[in-house]
Amino acid sequence: MCAVRDQSPPPGETVMNLYLGIDIGSVTIKLALIDRAGHFVDSVYRRTQGQPVQALQQGLAELRARLPGKAAIRGVGTTGSARYLAAAIAGGDVVKNEITSQVVATARTVPAARTIVEIGGQDSKLVLLEDGTVADFSMNTVCAAGTGSFLDHQAARLGIAIEDLGARALRSRHPVRITGKCTVFAESDMISKQQMGHPLEDILYGLCLALARNYLANVGLGREIRTPAVFQGGVAFNQGMVRAFKEVLGTGEVMVPPHPEAMGAIGAALLALEEMGPRTGGAHECGPRDRAAGGRPPAVEARTAFAGFAVSEALYTTTPFECRACPNLCEVARVSLDGRVIATCGGRCDLWEHAPAGDPAAGPARRRKEVPASGGRRRRQRE
Ligand code: SF4
Repeated sequence: MCAVRDQSPPPGETVMNLYLGIDIGSVTIKLALIDRAGHFVDSVYRRTQGQPVQALQQGLAELRARLPGKAAIRGVGTTGSARYLAAAIAGGDVVKNEITSQVVATARTVPAARTIVEIGGQDSKLVLLEDGTVADFSMNTVCAAGTGSFLDHQAARLGIAIEDLGARALRSRHPVRITGKCTVFAESDMISKQQMGHPLEDILYGLCLALARNYLANVGLGREIRTPAVFQGGVAFNQGMVRAFKEVLGTGEVMVPPHPEAMGAIGAALLALEEMGPRTGGAHECGPRDRAAGGRPPAVEARTAFAGFAVSEALYTTTPFECRACPNLCEVARVSLDGRVIATCGGRCDLWEHAPAGDPAAGPARRRKEVPASGGRRRRQRE
């Protein structure tokens, strides 16, 4: 059982008002806290290891353990492929896609940015900006050659900790050219370079260059990368990759924000602040007392849907089923609390992400009725 809402602090106690952003994908979860001024406070990064509910609970517990005693969550934003699941569990006030969240965080961190290069463990994105808004974007979720898993796999094969790969790659003097636009050919080329006796540092930097080229070929698809470019996602910690992008793009204007892995979560937190934070004006006109107090109208703050950190101890049950709406036959999970379905998650598309909570039988049934007539693959959806 879980008590779903934290207690309000005692009257008169000074409280640190915080906004929580949750970015949850298929491989990792990031949680970020910002204060009322939009400043970064803390973040947590964890692998989901196929258990997004538990990863979210553990992330919340870790964050709570590090919070000062007098802190209160005033708003929650969620993003990532499992954003609806996260919103259902944590109590989301705002649910936005990753592109929107990352653009919001980038606009705050590097206002002059014209391109976002984002590389995570399993996917990568490119967002082109014009005056701070999205002019074009593309995503790669299928080809490993343009994602961090390419580096992870090769580091493991070479017996190097992924955290050390970047520093060693920076020591390269004569990088080798790793050819091949997919992981299989690139790996066989690397093996051949090792057999020829090239120094490991040169092979590692060659690997970084190959990933940068593959990213531009697969995700960039001929698009013009305008600078300044902001490089984010977990792979941006790798200094070898930062140098590789500068070299491949032929520019030094590739910047890495202070918390590159958490930009989606920071953006979600900023969106929560925008939606839930105190506002002035509007319907709340300045009254006599406000004028006496300095002429400002009262701050108005919406009440958050945050379910409280106690959800990290709740007992959720997950029931898998196969979606047969298309040949992918994805495994989807229904998440319940106290016998009530609160969310569904999983699958390669977002078909089930919006499935409503409530009666376990009602979600899919209602969902079928919601299927647009033109959506052939959704029409015959069955469990
Ligand atoms: S409709 Fe979506 S969730 Fe269902 S099988 Fe196809 S890709 Fe997977």
